Amino acid sequence: MKLYNTATRKLETFKPLSGVVKIYTCGPTVYARAHIGNLTSYIYWDLLIRALKISDYKVKRVMNFTDVGHLVSDADEGEDKMEKGAKREGKTVFEVAEHYIDLFKKDYTALELQEPDVWARATDYIAEDIEAVNAMTANGFTYETADGVYYDTSKFPEYGDFARLDLSGLKAGARIEFSDEKRNASDFAVWKFIKPGEKHEMRWDYLNRPGYPGWHLECATIIHKELSEPIDIHTGGVDHIPVHHTNEIAEMHAMTGRELAKYWVHCAFITIDGEKISKSLGNTYSLDDLSERGFSPMDYKMWVLSGHYQGTRNFTFESLEAARNRRLNWRNRIALLYQLSSESEHSAPFSSGRSGALARVLGPSEKGSRIFASARDDGGNSMVLTQVLDAINNNLNSAEAFALIDNSELSLDDWGKIDELFGLRLIADSPIISEELQALVSERETARAAKNYARADEIRDELATHGFTVKDTSDGPVWQYLH
Ligand code: AMP
Ligand code: ZN
Repeated sequence: MKLYNTATRKLETFKPLSGVVKIYTCGPTVYARAHIGNLTSYIYWDLLIRALKISDYKVKRVMNFTDVGHLVSDADEGEDKMEKGAKREGKTVFEVAEHYIDLFKKDYTALELQEPDVWARATDYIAEDIEAVNAMTANGFTYETADGVYYDTSKFPEYGDFARLDLSGLKAGARIEFSDEKRNASDFAVWKFIKPGEKHEMRWDYLNRPGYPGWHLECATIIHKELSEPIDIHTGGVDHIPVHHTNEIAEMHAMTGRELAKYWVHCAFITIDGEKISKSLGNTYSLDDLSERGFSPMDYKMWVLSGHYQGTRNFTFESLEAARNRRLNWRNRIALLYQLSSESEHSAPFSSGRSGALARVLGPSEKGSRIFASARDDGGNSMVLTQVLDAINNNLNSAEAFALIDNSELSLDDWGKIDELFGLRLIADSPIISEELQALVSERETARAAKNYARADEIRDELATHGFTVKDTSDGPVWQYLH
């Protein structure tokens, strides 16, 4: 597998550090329902995990929930997002966290994303955070201000390297309230003190004062505890590069002197109708909003996977419709293969004219006789499947993989593997027509032969209520999914 590594800005061949590939994903801040922009990254990382597993790697994966300490800006300014969410909803931060963790897991499952081995909640690691701050302090990397314990970035000369930051232009104290005592502009809080009178429900005593961990620390301590550094792959959004991941790396360096991760993989942002996703534009669509407009989570996943994770993608409802049609088309190709394989059981060798008609339904690239050749179930990868896997193994190029699938002949066995790779419920959402409905398809044929078109139409309508339609070909009818 080749991955574009943000640390080196190069496409690199993935070489695991040990027998188990250790992966960490920065998870959501659980103060609001995830919008479709938030969800894109988890879809891409699921593909990464599935591709590794299909390539026989053992994977251990940890993902966190940020339920404390992520301030409204990614730096140390503004309110804690969790406290803000609690105020908005008239609930406690704990209730807000519970609620949005549940909703996130629901979305995660609806998208058929494989669960990490560990879901790590930031507030379950406070003791480890405190240990980590103590270690950083003992190693000479921190100093205390009235506002908290700060990381002295001048003690880590490589601080700006990861994000290629130019630190010379930053002036200390220019941006941050309560930070007159900050020594360098890039210094950041590893622990924040709660000021007397400040409302902050989540609080822990440290250094004889109430406080809470700085946002980045949770990821460093969770990785240290659950995976142990260095890990193989760390994933996140491009927005994480200049602050969050830069600070995670610095913290691990100060805690243990060790590297945090070998490969860093970041996905680009999506826009909606050419605009940034924002509450004020009313385009923070959740999966439920899509479903109200008739689109399933799988349609959305199809949309995400039809582009590359590093490309800035523009979401429109037209493009979502195209993704839905593509998935329907794939499921109908599976339906045709079911019909071909069940017919072949009854009339071997299957080489009648019917194959030609079915091939026409399948589309121009699919020549009947060759479909039969590839409809075998020998357990091995067909050439197409190998090419699809190659595309994914080349920096997760799902766009190229999808184009190959569109333009290739595939067996049922191939489709099963494609489903395993992409998690698109292609097989699960493609049931074989029931015997009763199959009987209706046959009855419709009889009615048509007897020129009883009224009955034939009636049957077509009846099939439609079950989500099926019939396509007439010169060699007979084939059933298809309507949606
Ligand atoms: P938050 O929970 O608000 O911290 O957001 C979680 C993560 O979602 C962000 O850090 C980004 O990596 C990702 N994200 C937010 N907006 C978008 C977007 N428009 N497209 C892709 N990813 C996004
Ligand atoms: Zn993180």
